[in-house]
Amino acid sequence: MRRIITRRSSVHGKGLFALAPLREGERLIEYKGTVKSWRAATRDWERSGAPGHTFFFGLSNGRVIDGGNRGNSARWLNHACEANCQAFEEAGRVFIYVLRDIQAGEELFISYDLALDNDAGDASRLDYVCRCGSGQCRGTMLAA
Ligand SMILES: [Zn+2]
Repeated sequence: MRRIITRRSSVHGKGLFALAPLREGERLIEYKGTVKSWRAATRDWERSGAPGHTFFFGLSNGRVIDGGNRGNSARWLNHACEANCQAFEEAGRVFIYVLRDIQAGEELFISYDLALDNDAGDASRLDYVCRCGSGQCRGTMLAA
């Protein structure tokens, strides 16, 4: 039985939603995609001509999972400052876990906590403004 579905999100573009109730602690889905270097991922994304939406998930070894290439629906997870899901890296793979009980119909979120290069300018920081609408919103998808 399918437990999650991709549909239009009120927060940003498409989102991932629960089709059935989900339980805290469940392993939901793997974040799939081609593993490559950041440089290759950025180059491929620029060549794809699809600006505005990246599907990169940074790994602790400095490489990145490019969900835009052989990815699955996990790439549609939006960011929220009070996320109801969390990504954990296990031996070079990334799995999404449920952080609290979730009702059918709720959108699923993870906290991106993105790290930008120090030399990234204010313009690129603006690309990461958060509009999740939570009372705890930090106003950015970047790590504190
Ligand atoms: Zn927020």
